[in-house]
Order: sequence, then structure tokens, then C-alpha cells
Amino acid sequence: MKLMGNRLHRKHPCRPAMLAVVLVAFLSACADPAPPSPAQSFLIQGATIVDGTGTPGYIGSLRVTNGVIAEIAPADADNALSPTQGEPVHDATNLVLAPGFIDTHSHHDGGVLEEPTALAAVSQGITTIVAGQDGGSRFPIADFFTALDSTPAAVNVASYAGHGTLRRRVMGDDFRRAATEAEVAEMQTLLEGELAGGALGLSTGLEYDPGIYSTTDEVVALATTAAAHGGRYISHMRSEDRALLAAIEETVEIARRARLPVQISHFKLAARGLWGRTAEILARLDAARAEGLDISADVYPYEYWQSTMTVLFPERDFTDRAAARYALEELVAPDGMLIARFGADTTLEGKTLAQIATQRGTDPVTTYIDLIAESRAARAEGRDGGESIVASSMAFDDIATLMSWPHTNISSDGGLRGAHPRGFGAYPRVLGRYVREEGRLGLEEAVHKMTELAARHMGLVGRGVLKVGAAADMVLFDPATVLDRSTTTQPHLTATGIARVWVAGTVVYENGAVAGALPGVVLRRQ
Ligand SMILES: [Zn+2]
Repeated sequence: MKLMGNRLHRKHPCRPAMLAVVLVAFLSACADPAPPSPAQSFLIQGATIVDGTGTPGYIGSLRVTNGVIAEIAPADADNALSPTQGEPVHDATNLVLAPGFIDTHSHHDGGVLEEPTALAAVSQGITTIVAGQDGGSRFPIADFFTALDSTPAAVNVASYAGHGTLRRRVMGDDFRRAATEAEVAEMQTLLEGELAGGALGLSTGLEYDPGIYSTTDEVVALATTAAAHGGRYISHMRSEDRALLAAIEETVEIARRARLPVQISHFKLAARGLWGRTAEILARLDAARAEGLDISADVYPYEYWQSTMTVLFPERDFTDRAAARYALEELVAPDGMLIARFGADTTLEGKTLAQIATQRGTDPVTTYIDLIAESRAARAEGRDGGESIVASSMAFDDIATLMSWPHTNISSDGGLRGAHPRGFGAYPRVLGRYVREEGRLGLEEAVHKMTELAARHMGLVGRGVLKVGAAADMVLFDPATVLDRSTTTQPHLTATGIARVWVAGTVVYENGAVAGALPGVVLRRQ
């Protein structure tokens, strides 16, 4: 039906898009004796077009005019596209042309005003990032968006409003308690301002300070405010390990009481005792959906996460040896805990907890508690107390199964300069390992989860599908070679097989390097 539509369009040469092209050409010809710039239009020929909808790919051509997809046609169709006089042509034989990837859980906004070419994102085919995750966002969002309007990035940027950000503004350092009714009302007022500023909805980080001290009622109250303004809810849940099932129940309760679309961030089973229980957990979410609740999830393709050392202490007693022992036995083994950043003693960065324990001659539990104490002491003294770990906690098979759930899209959870390789590798890793090497997802299915499904889960309109009239955010990749290269020891290696990336029809990445163009726009809630 879609192709038929294109064919019909082609029989009407006076359609508005073409009139606009003619008009632009005419006006520029009047203003300037030079011929109209052919760069306003280009043709990609011979690509396998995987349009993002999940339907089978086909060999075809696609024309972009003024940043918008103007025409698409199969190579063997009567209306196969051929270049006009002087029109640039990209031969894409043996390559896949897909919509640019939409990263629904991104930290690539950190430093993006300073590094707007966003190599980490564009080099893996990402053309839109969704920021403001885990309960933390720029405040006010309108200022961040205004800054991006005047100094754009290579990628499009959308953002949630973070619950933790609002909570800190209202409660200050006195956040280790439930908020009062008046404080919740104040947070609701701030949230309304953020929603008016274009936030997609509310994000929470209920495993982190200060969100961990909130009650479910507080979150429901704020989610209800988001719902009233057509917003959505996205959550790093209260637990991803020992209390995962309770955290899922809380998320379902929030969806039921606040009545809005809910997305579980970086869905994972991060405890040995949970491994293999995906069927049971997905059945619970399917039951919630059958009840009419709009619950979806995103997943990144790694067996290890990156966070703080303290996140594994839900009771926040960092001297609790039993809690430390539980964490190292059930959640992250000492040789699976890589110290990514440790401001109090940077010589420890790049070592595992097991190695540091050996070096110090202490047992891993003691070492773990000591390191947290050292970072907190540094912070108390005004020195750099920052720390983060990359921790192996998940099983490949669980990740692949969660990823295959029809309501899961792909995300990176990555940053521009992060210590986790996902910042540069998440999308190529799915395409190379989960699709090509392991056959756990079909190519069209994987692309759908990176594009149209992701856009739907974020409420982004006009993105994520290759269709006439859509913004020409696109990635051209080689399905035979696409693969991540970034690792925990070299997290900033760009992937192989990503040939070219466009945002709004402008090349932002090709031949392994950023192009320097900054065509990204802010995607405010519609
Ligand atoms: Zn998170």
C-alpha cells in the first residue's frame, strides 16, 4: 500500500513538495546567478531499505530534498528513482539504509554543548538522544533547550524532567525522608513548568539519592501531573536486583494509578538469583498490558552496568559488612567490579576490586567498604570524591530474551566520554552480536526496536520511519561487518560498519569521523 502511494504521488508532478523545490530553486536563481545548489537534493541508490516498521527490507532508492525524505521506491519498480541532472548519488549497494537510531535512555547530553558533534552517538548511528534520565535533568529544561536552539548539536535532543532534580530543589539536603504534602505540591508546580518547557514527562531514579527516599504515593502524584499534561513516565526502578519483583509491582501500580505510558529503563536481571526468570517477569508485564496499562521497556546489550559503588547498599549503611558481602556474592563478584572512576585515588582506576584487595592485602568485603569510606571522606574534605564502577551482573540469555519482548526497544545508557563501552558501542553491538552472530533478533526487528518502536515509546512524532515526508534522519550500515569495538579497557573506540549517518539530510558522520555539521534540533513534547 505504501509503495502504491508513492507511485500515485509520482503521477502528480505539481505536488506541494515539488512546488516548494521549484520555488526555492527559482528564488535562489533570482538572488544569485549561480545555478541552484544540487546539495538540496540527493539520491541513495541500491540500498537495502529497512524502513523501521519491521517489514522486510528491499533493494531500493531514496531521495532526500531539503532535509526531508521526498521519494522512496524499490529498484525493480516501474517508478525506480534515477538521478536528476547534477544530483549527488550515493551508491549503497550491499548496505542497509535505516532510520537514524533513537536512543531512549541516553546520557550523551552530558558535555554535548562543548562537544556538539557527539562522536560517541553519531558513530553508532544514533540521530536522536533522549536525556533527563534516572531522575536527573537540566533545570529549567527550557534553558537547556534554548541553548541547544542557538548552538545545536549533531543529534536531535529530547528530555524528560527528573524527579530527583525537582526533589532536590524543593527539599535541598534534607531529602532522606518522605516529602510532605506541601513539598509534593511544590514539586508538581515545578514539573508543570518543565512540561510546559517541552519535557516528555517525568523520569525517576528510585535506586538513587534522593529518589530512593520517596514514597510510591509521591511518585504517583507527580506522574499524575505528567499525565494531565499528556506526558509520560520513565523509570530506573527502585531495584534491579534483590527487590526487582517488588520494583516491577511498584511500576505497574504507578501506571495503573497515574494512567500514563510507562517505560522501564535499562531493563535487566542484575542478580544471580534472578537469572533465567525472564519468562515469569515478562508474563507479569504482559498481564499488566492485558489490563490496559501501557508498559514498555528499553534494554542495552551488555552483561555489565555502570553506576556508583553505593547503589548496591539499598539501606544506605555503607559500613554494613553483611550488605557488602551479599553484593559481592549475589550481585557483582570482586573480579567483576571494575573501578571506572575514583577521584580519591585515581591510580585505582582501571583495576578490579579483586586486584585492589590483593594489592592492599585485605579481603574484598573490607576493601569495598574502605573504598566507599575513602571516596566519602574525600568529598567531605572538598576533594574529588567521585566514583563509579562497571559491574558484571547480567546473563547474555536474559538480555536477549528481554530484548526480544515485543514492547522492548534498544537504548544505550551511554555517554560521550563514559567509562562504559555502551557510550560508543550499544547499537552496533546489537546488530553485530545479537542479530548477525547469535541470531537472537531479526535485522528488521532489531531496526524496528531502534527506530519506530523507540519513537512510539517516547511519543516522538515524524521520526523513526523511512517514509515520504519524514525528517531524513538516517543511517547507512554494512550488515556483514557492523560491530562494536569499544571495551571496558578502550571504551571510546568507534564501531565498524557504520558507513554514513545523516540528520535532517545533512551528513554528520562518515568514513569513521564526524563531519562537523550540527543539524540537530530540540524535540519538545508534542
Ligand atoms: Zn539508570
